[in-house]
Amino acid sequence: MILEWCTFCKGTLHEGKVEVIARVRDGIIVIKEVPAFICDRCGEAYYRAEISRKIDTVMKDAHSGRLCCRPLATGEVEFTG
Ligand SMILES: [Zn+2]
Repeated sequence: MILEWCTFCKGTLHEGKVEVIARVRDGIIVIKEVPAFICDRCGEAYYRAEISRKIDTVMKDAHSGRLCCRPLATGEVEFTG
């Protein structure tokens, strides 16, 4: 079952690809080319069940160090209002 409308802003969802950025241990990983449905208003991405399962698997592999990837160097900025 795929959503047609964004549950946050009621914007329209379009099929596309996103990058999933996640924090893993002391770095972050970027999972590229993840198929998703993206809200044209707020940019929220929705994933099909099998896609989010796959993301979970990648995350588990990354956490256990089984994934063969180099962590990216990341700049982190504290946001102060
Ligand atoms: Zn939205």
